[in-house]
Amino acid sequence: MATWKCRNCDFKDIPLDKECPVCLRKFMPPGIILQSEKTKKTITLHISHTLGRDGLKELDPEEYVVLARCQFRISKGELSWTIEDIANAPGFPTFLDGRAIEGVIDVKNGNMISIGREHKMPMKIQFLIEE
Ligand SMILES: [Zn+2]
Repeated sequence: MATWKCRNCDFKDIPLDKECPVCLRKFMPPGIILQSEKTKKTITLHISHTLGRDGLKELDPEEYVVLARCQFRISKGELSWTIEDIANAPGFPTFLDGRAIEGVIDVKNGNMISIGREHKMPMKIQFLIEE
C-alpha cells in the first residue's frame, strides 16, 4: 500500500489517507495522475490545470470528442487538490465517483472522473508520491 513521508518532521510510512501522527499535517500530493480506465494512458499534473477536449485527447483518442473544450478544472490548493466542473454543458456534466460535481470538491486517491450520464472516458485519480 502506498504511503507518504512527512516533510515537516520526517515521520515515514504514513498511509495516504492518514495525517502525520506527530505533527498532524495532512498529505499534500506534489502531483496528480489521471489514468484512462480504457487505454491505461496517463497524464501527470503538478500545477492547477483546465482539461477538456484538447488536454485529454491523448488519454483516449476515440472518446475525447464527447468532452467540452474546457470540461473540468483540477486545482492545487494549500491543503488539497480539488476538482470543479466548468463545462456548463447540458447532458454532459462531469461526475466524480458517479455523482455530478457541484462546486469545488476535494479529490481523493482512487476517485473516478467520468463524463455525461453514460459515464464516458472514465479516468482514475492517483496521487503522485514524493520520494
Ligand atoms: Zn509530521
